[in-house]
Amino acid sequence: MAPIATAIVGLGKIARDQHIASLAGNPAFELIAVASPHSRLDGVRGFADIESLLRGVPEVSAVALCTTPQVRYETARYALEQGKHVLLEKPPGVTVSEVHALREIAQRNGVTLFASWHSRHAAAVEPARAWLAGREIRGVRVSWKEDVRVWHPGQRWIWQAGGLGVFDPGINALSILTRLLPGVVLKAAELSFPANCDTPIAARLSLIDSHAAAIEMELDFLQTGPQTWDIDIETDAGQLSLSMGGKNLAVDGRPVSTAPTPEYANLYEHFARLVHERRMDVDVAPLQLVADAFLCGKRVEVAEFIE
Ligand code: NAP
Repeated sequence: MAPIATAIVGLGKIARDQHIASLAGNPAFELIAVASPHSRLDGVRGFADIESLLRGVPEVSAVALCTTPQVRYETARYALEQGKHVLLEKPPGVTVSEVHALREIAQRNGVTLFASWHSRHAAAVEPARAWLAGREIRGVRVSWKEDVRVWHPGQRWIWQAGGLGVFDPGINALSILTRLLPGVVLKAAELSFPANCDTPIAARLSLIDSHAAAIEMELDFLQTGPQTWDIDIETDAGQLSLSMGGKNLAVDGRPVSTAPTPEYANLYEHFARLVHERRMDVDVAPLQLVADAFLCGKRVEVAEFIE
């Protein structure tokens, strides 16, 4: 089968850290063009925006949208209307209604839309899901604490409306949680907004699963020292712990080995299957929970964020 002629739109950190190498490592794809306002990739045709890319290289059949979230909807809409398959980096939009609309546009045009959640493809997530099946959940603690100055230096879009603030990493935890536990409901939230930012820098969420087990979640974007991306789940058969953002698994403190496939290799395997089978994968649950936190969250003002 001929490789899927693919373009990357938005040549920033995640495109360079993950997408370029994952496309190169998967024979189902061939990267043939890139669109980005200010950035170019050696050896690949480059354009300033998606419109000129699709005019210049009409043979592109799939696009991976790695832009900032604030321009995702317009870019995705244009690509879908041109009959292209689309992979959306997370979050799939800045509003839930954008994502529902994109799904309809994809359906109308008979193309694949993949609203990707890279953390769901981390090595330990599916083994954790299998281990939890049929077990009684008694309580969950999520601790997602990282230093924004280390992981997102200079990324102003994170602090602008639609940039999600601490939910930019926090939505990764929610994407894992909603894969592991069905029917997660947000009950209360407290969001801390720096006086000079549109988006929160810390948050506490109280949620429940479909059997009303309590889920407590703490998010912090100013964590110095050890960084934590942990989910601990108490069950009737012991405690399951996911650490390092879903890479490592332990039961009652004892490590469980998992296949070491990288997240983005798994993610592109899945995208290839979706394209070949003309299927969609659009789950808004993580974004819906963030939207709910903005809907019901108590707002606290904290000190200005200085980069
Ligand atoms: P970034 O480094 O700021 O890159 C975003 C890129 O988007 C910029 O390079 C910019 O291009 C491009 N862009 C902006 N407007 C555009 C438009 N209209 N058309 C085409 N390209 C446009 O951000 P990032 O860290 O890569 O994050 C991008 C997305 O990936 C975010 O949604 C984030 O949540 C997600 N993500 C990030 C990471 C991570 O580790 N950073 C991990 C997983 C997922 P120019 O440079 O040409 O101006």
